[in-house]
Amino acid sequence: MAKRVFNFNPGPSTLPLSVLQEAQNELIDYRGCGMSVMEMSHRSKDFEAIVHSAENTFKELAGIGDDYRVLFLQGGASLQFDMIPMTFLQEGKSADYVVTGSFAEKAYKEAKKIGTVKAAANLAEENHRRIPQQDELELDPSAAYVHITTNNTIFGTQWHYTPQTNGVPLVADMSSDILSRPMDYNQYDLIYAGAQKNLGPSGVTVVVIRQELLKQVPETLPSMLRYDLFAKNDSLYNTPPAFGIYMIDLMLEWLKDAGGLEAMGRHNMEKAALIYHAIDNSNGFYSGHAAKDSRSQMNITFRLPSEELDKAFIQEAAAQNLTGLKGHRSVGGMRASVYNAMSREGCQKLADFMTEFQKKNG
Ligand code: PMP
Repeated sequence: MAKRVFNFNPGPSTLPLSVLQEAQNELIDYRGCGMSVMEMSHRSKDFEAIVHSAENTFKELAGIGDDYRVLFLQGGASLQFDMIPMTFLQEGKSADYVVTGSFAEKAYKEAKKIGTVKAAANLAEENHRRIPQQDELELDPSAAYVHITTNNTIFGTQWHYTPQTNGVPLVADMSSDILSRPMDYNQYDLIYAGAQKNLGPSGVTVVVIRQELLKQVPETLPSMLRYDLFAKNDSLYNTPPAFGIYMIDLMLEWLKDAGGLEAMGRHNMEKAALIYHAIDNSNGFYSGHAAKDSRSQMNITFRLPSEELDKAFIQEAAAQNLTGLKGHRSVGGMRASVYNAMSREGCQKLADFMTEFQKKNG
């Protein structure tokens, strides 16, 4: 029996064992094809069926209809930082960016290279401890779009409301919380996410785009940056990251079998609560980075009283098969990433470990 640890890495991150086993079973001979998905022509009927299934299951889970397309692209979420302004930030227009963390800031800075952008809010001075409220957003009614980052992977904060933009298209980087909770996806015009947290392995970027926006894509853009060409070709404009798309399809089926977003949202809330409870009941031994009303259910960030204790915590946790807990260097401390595939058992184990560690060192 292979050894599996409780993997709290921020991405690439843990995948459900059943999904890995299914991929393992189908690796040598995919459903009677006599070859693996890695070896298959992307123009084959079998692969086309996988792409269609992934697009349709995504739409079903997210509750979106035929006014949207789901595309499977490459270049990571980071390429979307460029493709979005290159497509929608036309001459004479400006776009609003809500800067809530490191990746939001990267998106903002990339867009700035391409056109005029404004920071609708930027809480860097508060070390991105919280998400701004609607009335703190300085939104330009004539903006080309508003860009938000629904979950801030590094700081451990998450939007718990959808900002009202008065008809201005809403664009969201959902890399670290896509399909993790019920929400109205129809309020968004473009959503993107690197797959390597909630959706599958790295190497695929999921882009959900309202069909209407495809008309705005300038024909002068290089072909590989054109959403409309990928939409027209069902994500097969060129050779796609085929195995990654197959893994996403398996992950989406797994999520459906687990009860979809309602069930997953409840599960994620309960999982995160176990760890936040350990923080809140530690008499300050553990201090959470995020303000309570902005806490993320995906990335839980906290500090111990000293760097020595940080080190000891990581070492002792690893000895108990709890790995990937070191926080990002810009925030320090710990970060427990508990995406969809992290089990409740893993969260309970971490919470128990935290309590034990405090008893010994507090
Ligand atoms: N946005 C967010 C919120 C992220 O967490 C990350 C990666 N951790 C990125 C963007 C960048 O993604 P990629 O590495 O796929 O370009």
